[in-house]
Amino acid sequence: MSESKNISNCRISRNVLIKAPGLLPMLYTTREIAEDLDVPETTLRDWLNHGAPHSRDESNHIWIDGKQFAAWVDNQRNSRKKPAHQLQAGEGFCMRCNTIVKIQNGEIRPVKGHLSHLKGKCPICGGIVNRGIWNAGSSELSQG
Ligand SMILES: [Zn+2]
Repeated sequence: MSESKNISNCRISRNVLIKAPGLLPMLYTTREIAEDLDVPETTLRDWLNHGAPHSRDESNHIWIDGKQFAAWVDNQRNSRKKPAHQLQAGEGFCMRCNTIVKIQNGEIRPVKGHLSHLKGKCPICGGIVNRGIWNAGSSELSQG
């Protein structure tokens, strides 16, 4: 967990990732956000320069919507990290739930060569979950 390893202009610390979801759907000043997230205001302004959502009033004061900002923080994390979890047999990523689920009622459909699609239902929302698999084996369907 080295804090200095990944230095970029737009580094979001773990601390911020944990705190950002607690921001309220209201307008904050840069100073308030910086205090809430425990980061220097200069860092916060860096993020604004890198696309963090904010607006300015006619006096050129910056206002930040807490919820929008939290969503942006979340996006930064997602764009920086590959999924940490390797999909296991029978698992897929549900776009609606934004999480990995065990695919229910999975069906394997050959696509081309060794590529197949595993298509089934999300156990959480009931939506369709698709997953591309290579060299599909029966293990993909072994669960309930
Ligand atoms: Zn789902």
